[in-house]
Amino acid sequence: MPSDLDVVRLAADRAVQYAATIDARGPTPTPAALAALAELDGPLPDRPGADAAVATIELLARIGGPATMGTTGASYFGFVNGATVPVALGAAMLTAAWDQNAALPVMSPVAAALHDVTRRWLVELLGFGADTDVAFVTGATVANATCLAAARDALLVEHGWDVQADGLFGAPPVQVVIGAKAHSTLRKSLGLVGLGRDRVIVVPADDQGRLIADQLPDLDPAAGPVLCCAQAGEVNTGAFDPFGPIADWVVERRGWLHVDGAFGLWAAADPMRAGLVRGLDRADSLATDGHKWLNVTYDSGIAFVQRPGALRRTFSAVAGYLPPDDGFEAMHHTPQSSQRARQIEVWAVLRTLGRAGVAELVQQACESAVAIADRLGESGFDVLNDVVLNQVLVRFVDGPTTERLLAEVQRDGRIWCGSTQWDGATAMRISVSSWKTTVADAQRAAAVIVECAARVSDA
Ligand SMILES: *Cc1c(COP(=O)(O)O)cnc(C)c1O
Repeated sequence: MPSDLDVVRLAADRAVQYAATIDARGPTPTPAALAALAELDGPLPDRPGADAAVATIELLARIGGPATMGTTGASYFGFVNGATVPVALGAAMLTAAWDQNAALPVMSPVAAALHDVTRRWLVELLGFGADTDVAFVTGATVANATCLAAARDALLVEHGWDVQADGLFGAPPVQVVIGAKAHSTLRKSLGLVGLGRDRVIVVPADDQGRLIADQLPDLDPAAGPVLCCAQAGEVNTGAFDPFGPIADWVVERRGWLHVDGAFGLWAAADPMRAGLVRGLDRADSLATDGHKWLNVTYDSGIAFVQRPGALRRTFSAVAGYLPPDDGFEAMHHTPQSSQRARQIEVWAVLRTLGRAGVAELVQQACESAVAIADRLGESGFDVLNDVVLNQVLVRFVDGPTTERLLAEVQRDGRIWCGSTQWDGATAMRISVSSWKTTVADAQRAAAVIVECAARVSDA
């Protein structure tokens, strides 16, 4: 007899089939697969039949799967989109079945227990203070906003201003400092928390996109509290700001140092990259993604705040029906109230890979990036960045030729990567962010790019 759960078994089976065949398929959907998306459309059904659930999952797997980008495979180098390690996929499937609301321990004992363990493991792994608060949110944009809101409120409380009660109108002006190559979404986060996208002091960056600490302005903290945003991992070059000198400057002004480390923060888990992250642990707050380099599923961001109580000051909510404090209450430390238990996947990956495995995840991507840069450099490309991390930034001949090359790579379809603007012209950005990409895969990818370049040159 068919059971209600047959549809779940079917979906699990199709999910496994998808994961098992992604590399045979390649990173780009075929034109036919894209055209077939029309089959998902149609009028809103009035009263679908008893077999609608099974038919729906079959349709989704048959039409939806082939129209995905193969970001979970070994040949996708676009943006900085991570893949999914198998244990994360498995944990995500179980977590979905449990459908826990991680807002409060009373709503989910397992989410609460795994929040505490994952928090401790993360701060140990990344080298932060033992009492650092950790909040799981939807991504680095929201993690940045979460940290910046906590910073705003903590800084203004020191000036006798309660932002949560009174808002920002009439408050002492927070002096916000960012680097010229801060990620575009950092400004979005600043705007979201009322600090303004453009009401910022921009410090020049060097040729790798690193904030130049010597050019930090001579701000007077009496004019308003100082909030400085640095970056671990520039999105084109992978470069790290000089955290030590920046932290010294912030401390002199009794300010708050925030670091956006959406992908770059994971370098702190690799002892070989200690030089890059020196001084990072002095930040008051830091933001990263799980869904990029840690290779858990979307959507997963993590906020770290090294000033105890700051997250709670900003995000606690009161309601008559809420029980008294009972361990870590996620809804009182994050912008969300109800929330997915994102820590479960993070815990599963850390438990499976361990310290050494996370370091190897970082190292493999970095070695792959070096392999790509070496091969392209030998083939006459201009490698525009020092390849210190997982990002490779190249130009072939000039901006317009690089645009033609990118179109040819995307048409070829064996790998996928995208463009960026660097020094006023188009460049090609290759990000190695998948656990699946080995150095051999990277060498094959570079060979594809070189072949495409030859075709563009001949045309
Ligand atoms: C990706 C990225 C972000 C935004 O992260 P989301 O997870 O997309 O919100 C912010 N900063 C940097 C440096 C990034 O690479």
